[in-house]
Amino acid sequence: MPSAIVVGGGIAGLVMARDLVLGGFEVTLLEASDHLGGKIARHTVAGLVLDAGAESFATRHDTVAHLARQLGLGSDIARPNPQGAWLQTAEGRAYPLPRTGILGIPGTPLAADVIEVVGFWAALRGQLDELMLGFVGSKERSLGRLVRRRMGRRVLEQLVAPVTLGIHSRHPDELDVDVVAPGLRAAMLDTGSLAHAVRELRDAAPAGTAVSGIVGGMFELVEALARDLERFGVTVRLKSPVTAVEASFVTLLDGQLLEADQVVLAAPLANPLATTGQPDPTPAIVLATLVVDAPELDGAPRGTGVLVARGSSDAPFRAKALTHATAKWDWLAERATPHRHVLRLSYDGAAAARVSDAQLRGQALHDAGELLGIALVEVSVVAFARVEWSAPSSRPEPIDGVTLIGEGVAGTGLAAVIAQVRVASGGLLEEVEA
Ligand SMILES: Cc1cc2nc3c(=O)[nH]c(=O)nc-3n(C[C@H](O)[C@H](O)[C@H](O)COP(=O)(O)OP(=O)(O)OC[C@H]3O[C@@H](n4cnc5c(N)ncnc54)[C@H](O)[C@@H]3O)c2cc1C
Repeated sequence: MPSAIVVGGGIAGLVMARDLVLGGFEVTLLEASDHLGGKIARHTVAGLVLDAGAESFATRHDTVAHLARQLGLGSDIARPNPQGAWLQTAEGRAYPLPRTGILGIPGTPLAADVIEVVGFWAALRGQLDELMLGFVGSKERSLGRLVRRRMGRRVLEQLVAPVTLGIHSRHPDELDVDVVAPGLRAAMLDTGSLAHAVRELRDAAPAGTAVSGIVGGMFELVEALARDLERFGVTVRLKSPVTAVEASFVTLLDGQLLEADQVVLAAPLANPLATTGQPDPTPAIVLATLVVDAPELDGAPRGTGVLVARGSSDAPFRAKALTHATAKWDWLAERATPHRHVLRLSYDGAAAARVSDAQLRGQALHDAGELLGIALVEVSVVAFARVEWSAPSSRPEPIDGVTLIGEGVAGTGLAAVIAQVRVASGGLLEEVEA
């Protein structure tokens, strides 16, 4: 029986371990922390079990839903409230997020809902895209440069940046367009314009909203995977940080050397903090969760939440996005008592990490009221929780004979990560068969 060691027990490592064991490998999974799931995590706030990290997945491809079905969770796939999210402009006005876009890139720049957000002149600049030749900007790998060139700065900063900062925690200038919007550049060359490419990709996507979730939270996926690993005989070792990997060998922090035919790295080994178990002193994202009793929120005044466009004069310590979780997910609203709402606000880690829990709670309450257009009072707060996350993993250096998977290679997001794992595990299984 061929053997494999998988380093990292986030979604990438878990899916890889399952695929390999089902393909006939003897698998050992090594996870640095005392729990599985990585950036899919859960916490209990005011008696409600909530996602503390990822809370949904992109549905443009069937990747995550297919995994959920394989794990027996097919009937638990949940669609969010179709009302969708809102966007707060840098000037402080709030509008429903234009509906025709991909990552905020408008499919129809002169649509009324786009003009409302960016203004007529910026929308007209966006429309210039349709007059350019398809190859203009088609060599740009940076999403920011591509959109800026084709549709102008305001469309980029007011529409696209709030969406990518909310979804990928990165400005479009830091994102590879082929990773976050696969097929977009090719469709642009094909159709002759970025807006047309957006429309084509949207038409090709399944009907309905762009994301789904799992009843009970995304952590259900981790629990189902963990059950399968146990059932199929994978050796899972928690609190087993790895310090080095090479073809056929893995070195653990305690000096142990483990050997296997295949080594798969599903963890950001370059981050030494992960091996110490210490909290990251410079988290990239700080999440503040508020559970409030507020009948004023029953009508979901800003749909499923608000993405915030930054102005140049903005204070750094200000929420960049808010998810109204009980408005977004019916299953969660059903578990909460009447008029109880779950609000999740995300903050830039550099600014928010320095403040105390009391300050963060106060700021979150203030920001939630401002973003939802409703004055929320302190007495409405039933509970508050703070969670900190490190920056998305950066691209690892290739290591001879070691298979690299996960966020660093695939880009952020469960759909991208799982799709890349499935390709990599298929390759390893084919190698064995050959
Ligand atoms: C707050 C937040 C919200 C998000 N929301 C969404 C969302 O709604 N939808 C979506 O699609 N994506 C979302 N994402 C992104 C998504 O969660 C990640 O892209 C994905 O979970 C990454 O999975 P991974 O397995 O590659 O990495 P990780 O989840 O980071 O897993 C890596 C694992 O490796 C372990 N590890 C690290 N170092 C070592 C070592 N030296 N030895 C052994 N183990 C080690 C870690 O402890 C961890 O368990 C969100 C991310 C965050 C932070």
